[in-house]
Amino acid sequence: MITGDYHIHTVRCGHAKGELQDYINFAISKNLREIGFSDHAPM
Ligand SMILES: [Zn+2]
Repeated sequence: MITGDYHIHTVRCGHAKGELQDYINFAISKNLREIGFSDHAPM
């Protein structure tokens, strides 16, 4: 069972779209206990 996701790229590094809250809402909907953002330079 997957309980966390620590490899999430967002709009901050240009590899995804949407609001950060959307990631949190999605994680909650999938019953994830933890998530970690792994955005990187250039930001
Ligand atoms: Zn990225």
